[in-house]
Amino acid sequence: MSKWVYMFGGGRTEGRAGMKDLLGGKGANLAEMAAIGLPVPPGFTITTDVCTFYYANGRTYPAGLEDAIEAGVAHIASVMGASFGDRKQPLLLSVRSGARASMPGMMDTILNLGLNDDTVLGLIETSGDARFAWDSYRRFVQMYSDVVLGIGHHYFEELLEDLKADRGYILDTDLQAGDWKELLGSYKALVMKRSGAPFPDDPYDQLRGAIGAVFSSWMNQRAITYRRLHDIPEAWGTAVNVQAMVFGNMGSDCATGVAFTRDPSTGEDTFFGEYLVNAQGEDVVAGIRTPQHLTILGKQANQSDLPALEELMPDVFRQLDAIRRILEKHYRDMQDIEFTVQRGALWMLQTRTGKRTPAAALKIAVDLAREGLITREEAVMRVDPGQIDQLLHPMLDPRAIRDVLTTGLPASPGAASGKLVFTAADAEAWVRRGEKVILARVETSPEDIGGMHVAEGVLTSRGGMTSHAAVVARGMGRPCVAGAGAVRINVTDRVMTVLGREIREGDLLTLDGSTGQVIYGAVPMVRPDLGKDFSLLMEWADSIRRMGVRANAETPADARVARSFGAEGIGLCRTEHMFFEPGRIVHVRQMILARDEDGRRQALDLLRPYQRADFIEIFRIMHGLPVTIRLLDPPLHEFLPHTDADIQEVADSAGVDVRTVRQAIAQMAESNPMLGHRGCRLGITFPEIYAMQCQAIFEAAIEVPPKDAPSMVEVMIPLVATRRELELTKAIVDQAAKDVFARCGKTIPYKVGTMIELPRAALCAGDLADDAEFFSFGTNDLTQTALGISRDDAAHFMDAYHRHGVYAKDPFVSIDCEGVGELVKIATVRGRAAHPGLKVGVCGEHGGDPDSIDFFEGIGLDYVSCSPYRVPIARLAAARSACRRIGNGHKELADSTA
Ligand code: ADP
Ligand code: MG
Ligand code: MG
Repeated sequence: MSKWVYMFGGGRTEGRAGMKDLLGGKGANLAEMAAIGLPVPPGFTITTDVCTFYYANGRTYPAGLEDAIEAGVAHIASVMGASFGDRKQPLLLSVRSGARASMPGMMDTILNLGLNDDTVLGLIETSGDARFAWDSYRRFVQMYSDVVLGIGHHYFEELLEDLKADRGYILDTDLQAGDWKELLGSYKALVMKRSGAPFPDDPYDQLRGAIGAVFSSWMNQRAITYRRLHDIPEAWGTAVNVQAMVFGNMGSDCATGVAFTRDPSTGEDTFFGEYLVNAQGEDVVAGIRTPQHLTILGKQANQSDLPALEELMPDVFRQLDAIRRILEKHYRDMQDIEFTVQRGALWMLQTRTGKRTPAAALKIAVDLAREGLITREEAVMRVDPGQIDQLLHPMLDPRAIRDVLTTGLPASPGAASGKLVFTAADAEAWVRRGEKVILARVETSPEDIGGMHVAEGVLTSRGGMTSHAAVVARGMGRPCVAGAGAVRINVTDRVMTVLGREIREGDLLTLDGSTGQVIYGAVPMVRPDLGKDFSLLMEWADSIRRMGVRANAETPADARVARSFGAEGIGLCRTEHMFFEPGRIVHVRQMILARDEDGRRQALDLLRPYQRADFIEIFRIMHGLPVTIRLLDPPLHEFLPHTDADIQEVADSAGVDVRTVRQAIAQMAESNPMLGHRGCRLGITFPEIYAMQCQAIFEAAIEVPPKDAPSMVEVMIPLVATRRELELTKAIVDQAAKDVFARCGKTIPYKVGTMIELPRAALCAGDLADDAEFFSFGTNDLTQTALGISRDDAAHFMDAYHRHGVYAKDPFVSIDCEGVGELVKIATVRGRAAHPGLKVGVCGEHGGDPDSIDFFEGIGLDYVSCSPYRVPIARLAAARSACRRIGNGHKELADSTA
């Protein structure tokens, strides 16, 4: 026969914390607390199996449940020395729902169950307080009617207000026992009127009604929505906890409270909590009375005049403080607890893993490891990489008032304030004269990069999470709100309107890239201090992880940030970004518009010194570490001028007329540039471009003294599909090396490798590996080409795709393991089979995504490369994945903090 009911308390505890699947989180932890000898009011838990049975069998209960419940009630009654429905010593119960994961959508708790016109007299007797007894009774009728019978609170509140007005009372506490008793009469009449049946007087009817309400609340709309949002399976079901009532509202020696065993916002090892004297249940969080602080320190910190529990009930406080330590040692994590004091006796009503801020998560994990309560691996597993992400960016002061204009997509985390500008050129000009700016564009293009770089934050009115603005801003660590549809931008008049409000150029604006809020004015900022705990956790992560972590960086500033965040080299240096700088772009355009090779060479000769200088600086910054440089990749037309002024300038500098330039631009237009004249195709059609770049690279590498040189220069060819492409372009690199080495009379070691970003390259990786000395997966393009989805056009249908669950996650954020991931796996296996020891890494956006990193760890890649600001996230994520692989991930006793 199945066991449907588990007792706890009174020396007869049948469950443990490990039984959450069966007993729910609340039930399992009540059992655990009882089992380790903490004062828990006795009770029993009806299992989640009953919930499953209930729904599988047309909302009926299994045979034997009724008896088991009676046995449970008898257990409680014998421990409490009371009897359910008894007029002399009435037993009162609470009925509490409790799923595996904490679920706010579930049924509210019912307190004081078992009261009726008879038993209330017993309660008057045992408590010696008629007012308390009648108040408890009416609270019960109100709660039960609301939760079980569906008669809303407000009906009862109206009756209460009427009575108060009638008697000239102001506060609830003005009501006397007789008033409450009279009010109960009107409550019951109300129930009769609205439900067509009398309020259930029989305690067992009340209990059955409450239990049924818990089970049916599993399928109410609130719960269904909550489960969908939090990926909680419907099959889990909920448990029901039935427990003896303890009273925090029986007088001034009674209290009720909630607490965290450490400060949940800072992680500080201080007891943190609030309580109310002479109150019941959720009065503390309901905010009707000002709660008091547990500790004297807490009271002082909050400048409260009300006495702390430490002062008012020192014995109870000492006991509670001891329990705080016991629970932390036992659960090995910070706990969130509920307690009640009845006539000086302390009762524990709940414990669970406490939610905490990212800063607290970091501090608590490191402290617990230092205290020896958890291992370093566990500490690493306790901090979510997403929390580190939040810590790395400045945040808006949570206490500041925000004038929110609208909310767009939270495209790149962090917050920023500045004066509003509408063009990249303005951004650069304003910053040059010392202003801080927010750049607002309808959408951004590669031309805007300069402006984005100097701006504090970027706002776009169009585009998704993977739009140009979003990707580039994340790469730069620049806060970005993208796709704010309510924003209308008028560049000509330098003004934008948001839902009828006009914001002009120069007005102060704040962006919160973590929430997507666009805020008028400057909101004060706080930068979380990363401090020693952060470096310590990172050190632990580094000692655990197997995969290397490099950064995608092309500017000296980015390279420096990357190194300071612990990058072990550059995995992707995009040379085209160096072309956009003012003073260079004109030569690039000259090169593109040149009529013949000679003309191109002339322009390239002007560009080479710039590239060489850039490489020298980056090599110095990354000294001792490997640097992978990708040769020119984007289609050339991206560099072409668009505005009349720019076209005129190019025409002048190239010595041709404006019409010729316009013709050239029209000629180069492509209808599908992502699959157009780009990548190694440029190297094959214009070998002199790659030759110039390689010459600059090798000259730079030779120029820096050995102690300032990178450990390895890796030249990477983009968009290769066939072996012949790699042969042709590799020959250019090798020839350039040979020429430079001969001219300088010096050689340096270098490698030539290829990106794998086309499905054909992945499938033919064995062939490519004969010529390639390393592989780097360009997972952005590989995703586009494998899925046949253009990132720039995905916004139109990705929403619908997400709603219908076509891809579990946005495949441009988190790698599509089955498809794109399979290509990565195949290429790695085939590449290494042909070329044992081949170094294989990832340099797409996925290199900084924890879920993707987990996949890459699983298939044994050598390293990931990500934007500088994601380096710590990748280090932590790689360590966590390594932990999981070797089975060090500790199974938590309590709920996960997720
Ligand atoms: P939630 O999941 O919303 O926290 P709970 O079941 O924990 O719901 O209960 C709600 C409130 O009722 C809490 O403040 C709790 O302390 C109080 N409560 C629950 N059971 C009892 C009981 N047996 N005696 C006294 N108060 C109780
Ligand atoms: Mg609770
Ligand atoms: Mg690419």
